Amino acid sequence: MVRKRELSRGCVFCHRGGKMVLFVTGLCPRTCWYCPLSKERKGRDVIYANERLIVTPEDAEEVARLMSALGTGITGGEPLHVPDRVADFCRHFKRVFGEGHHIHLYTGLAPGEETLRDLRGLVDEIRMHPPHEMWSRIEESPYRDSAILAGEMGFSVGIEVPSLPGIGDLSPILTSLDFLNINELEWGETNAAAMRQRNMVLEDGVHNAVRGGRAWAADLVNHPKVHWCSSRFKDSVQLRKRLLRVARNTARPFDQVTRDGTILYGVLKSGEPLPPIFHQLDPGMYEIREGDVETAWWVITEFSDRLPGEKMIIERYPDRGLVVEVTPVA
Ligand code: SF4
Repeated sequence: MVRKRELSRGCVFCHRGGKMVLFVTGLCPRTCWYCPLSKERKGRDVIYANERLIVTPEDAEEVARLMSALGTGITGGEPLHVPDRVADFCRHFKRVFGEGHHIHLYTGLAPGEETLRDLRGLVDEIRMHPPHEMWSRIEESPYRDSAILAGEMGFSVGIEVPSLPGIGDLSPILTSLDFLNINELEWGETNAAAMRQRNMVLEDGVHNAVRGGRAWAADLVNHPKVHWCSSRFKDSVQLRKRLLRVARNTARPFDQVTRDGTILYGVLKSGEPLPPIFHQLDPGMYEIREGDVETAWWVITEFSDRLPGEKMIIERYPDRGLVVEVTPVA
C-alpha cells in the first residue's frame, strides 16, 4: 500500500532511471484523440525494449542488462491485446532477473478475474487507463470493480492517465486505488491536429507539455495518493538517468559520457591506412568501424591537421542509439 506522499514502487524505480520500457505492441482497439504514439509504433504489431526494435524475450533481456535494469514497465498500444506475449516476457524476466525484478503493466482495459489470475506472480503493479468519456462515471465503471479485485488479489493497483479537462472526476475512485498517476498532457506528431481542433497550445518552446494540464489537475495533486508526472521530469530526470545507466555500462574508454547521459566521440572517415598518430595512442583509444576510425573527440580536434579526410564529433544516445548532433571538424 502507498503511504502518505509515497510513490508506487514502479515510480520509485522509474525515478532512479532503472525501469526498462517494454513496448509490447502498437495494436490497440481504442482511438483516444490524445494518443501520443509515434507513426512508427501506432497500429503496428512491433516490440521495442527502450528504443531498440526487438523480437524475443532474450533480446529484451540484453537491453535490460545494458542498463542494469531494476524492473520493467510494459506499455503499448494495448498490452493485454497480446496477453500470451506479455506473459512470456514477464516469465522470462522473473526467471533470469529474479522475483525482485519489478514489473508494472499499463492497460486501457479493466482486467477481470481470469486475466488477473493469469498475471499473478508475473506482474507486480497494474496501471489502468480508463477512457476519458468514462471518467465522470468512474464509480459505476468496470475499472472500479477491477481495481478492488486486483487489490484483493495482491497487486499494487492504480490509474494512470494524462491530465485532461475533467480529471477531477476521478477523485471518488481514489479510495479503491493505491495510487493515481497523472501525466502532463503531451503534444506529439500524431495528436497535433486533434490538439489544435481543441484550441490547445504548447506550454513553452522547449518541452512537449500542453498548456493547462497542471490547472486541470489542481484539485487532485495535493491528495497523498496522487502523483503528478511532468513532461519536464520525464525529459530531464527519468530519461537522463536511464541513459546514464546505459552509458556507464557501454561507453568505450575513449567515449566521453555527458551530464545528459549522451556520449561524445570523434570520427575520421578517410579510407586511407591508419594515420601514424593512432600508433602512439593506447590500443583502447580508437576503434575501426565500417572503415571509419572512432576515437576520443579531443584526438580529432587536437590532431586535426595530421588527420587527412572528413572529421566530425558525434553526440548520441549510448549503445549506438539516436544521433543527437554531428559537428564537422575542419
Ligand atoms: S489506450 Fe493508449 S495506446 Fe490505445 S489509443 Fe488510447 S492512448 Fe493510444
